[in-house]
Amino acid sequence: MGQSEVVVVGAGIAGLTSAAILSKQGLSVTLIESHTQSGGCAGTFKRKNYIFDVGATQVAGLEKGGIHSRIFDFLDIQPPEASILDPACIVDLKDGLKPISIWYSKSQWIAEQEMQFPGSRRFWNLCNLIHQSNWLFANNNPVLPISNFWDFSQLLKALVPSNLVTGILLKSTIFDLLRTCGLSKNERLIKFLNLQLKLYSQEDVYKTAALYGCTVLQMCQQPHGLWHLKKSMQSLSEALESSLKKTGVNLIFGQKVNSINFDYVNMRWKVSANSKKNSFVYQAKDLIYTAPPQSLLEHLEGQLNRKITYKNRLANLPDPSGAVVFYSALKKEHLKKISSNHYQFVSHEFGSLFVSISEDGDGRAPKGEVTLIASIFTKTKDWFDLDKQNYLKRKKDFMKKISLELESQFDILPENWLHRELATPLGFEKWTNRPNGIVGGLGQNPDIFGLFGLSSRTPFEGLWLCGDSIYPGEGTAGVSQSALMVSRQILASKGIENFSL
Ligand SMILES: Cc1cc2nc3c(=O)[nH]c(=O)nc-3n(C[C@H](O)[C@H](O)[C@H](O)COP(=O)(O)OP(=O)(O)OC[C@H]3O[C@@H](n4cnc5c(N)ncnc54)[C@H](O)[C@@H]3O)c2cc1C
Repeated sequence: MGQSEVVVVGAGIAGLTSAAILSKQGLSVTLIESHTQSGGCAGTFKRKNYIFDVGATQVAGLEKGGIHSRIFDFLDIQPPEASILDPACIVDLKDGLKPISIWYSKSQWIAEQEMQFPGSRRFWNLCNLIHQSNWLFANNNPVLPISNFWDFSQLLKALVPSNLVTGILLKSTIFDLLRTCGLSKNERLIKFLNLQLKLYSQEDVYKTAALYGCTVLQMCQQPHGLWHLKKSMQSLSEALESSLKKTGVNLIFGQKVNSINFDYVNMRWKVSANSKKNSFVYQAKDLIYTAPPQSLLEHLEGQLNRKITYKNRLANLPDPSGAVVFYSALKKEHLKKISSNHYQFVSHEFGSLFVSISEDGDGRAPKGEVTLIASIFTKTKDWFDLDKQNYLKRKKDFMKKISLELESQFDILPENWLHRELATPLGFEKWTNRPNGIVGGLGQNPDIFGLFGLSSRTPFEGLWLCGDSIYPGEGTAGVSQSALMVSRQILASKGIENFSL
């Protein structure tokens, strides 16, 4: 039986980051991962000569002062090599007008907004003001939602005067801001915002919390920006793994946690896991759980029957999305009209397609070739309810339709594909152990975001949640912030009060 002070379940970015921080602070940590590699939704897989990013393809928070950068500095490790995305994305609304380039430079982006969405200046200025206030708050490491006095004290410390004004918007949506600015009927702007917000918040303008939406709409510009990692997304996890090695974290691959129980005799959490051949048990006073909270319904079944209200809350969490991802490769010369690594375009069939294209020579494909990854949102139920034959038929149908959309968008000849394959929610479930292949955490509407979300503290002492269902939400930057928050909570519970980055 393995003993440590902390057991972390899951070596995605949330688990790697929390394990690295706590271990650097001197705690003994065991990190258990069911896969044979780390990274989870931000991992990669190899096929033929190509390396494909499984889910995440771009990274926020690598700039100086950004969350990844602060954590790398604290861990004293090298950040992965990366370049800024400029434009971060080109969005084609397929309305016959020029596609929208989301520039890194603030002034260039303002000029683009004015050209593309005349009369929308007030809205963007308002978003910017709200974002500035959010950013000062987020950099002060707030704890949200609050569950006890310590959390409350951290929230108070993080507040800046402007938050008292923006706090009025706690229950507002992006659409409320549009209405305030007289833009509730601006169809083109709403169409653009719907596409972008769906990517980052899983909700549209009518449902995305204003406080969340304003920040994600400003992430592509200086002083922030989105980054393209050289080699692959795996280099983010590899950098974090290098810290685990230095501080002696017990990192275990190939063991799937199947149950969690509290041992009342030893007053410790008991984590049972299985490899292909053997069973293992780990014990620790603190347990960080980075699998989706919905998985607790299975893993914590026995304990949850003692806390029915919490069990019901987990059982009734809104259904997150699933994803269908198309992984492909082709010669660079066969991909015409490309001036960005990322494209998003309207699709009648799928709502929208988000496309990530590697750079020639960045390590994902042999020289002269590129990988092209396209993703769409899907209802997980639509895939899991099918028998095998209908599942395969649907998959083939999606493959064909996505190929056609991409061929038409980028002038690709069908014979020029060098590689094509598709992942559905069934594949994501297998890869990440996420129930039904749900991805990206909970939709960031006003009932879920911030104060009203699921807390990292659970009703079970020493059991902590972390990852993209916890504040501040999805993305590698979001889950790193949540890992920092939970690490601070654990350290404070051990009397290490003033830990901050
Ligand atoms: C298609 C897609 C595109 C995306 N694009 C972007 C993007 O461009 N930029 C961005 O920042 N974010 C993006 N995201 C979101 C981002 O990838 C995730 O929010 C983030 O990586 C989640 O990290 P996590 O550690 O919380 O969870 P996960 O990555 O899911 O990690 C959880 C880990 O726990 C392990 N695990 C689960 N259950 C068990 C168990 N029982 N026992 C042991 N181990 C277990 C899993 O194997 C996994 O490694 C995207 C996601 C998807 C799916």
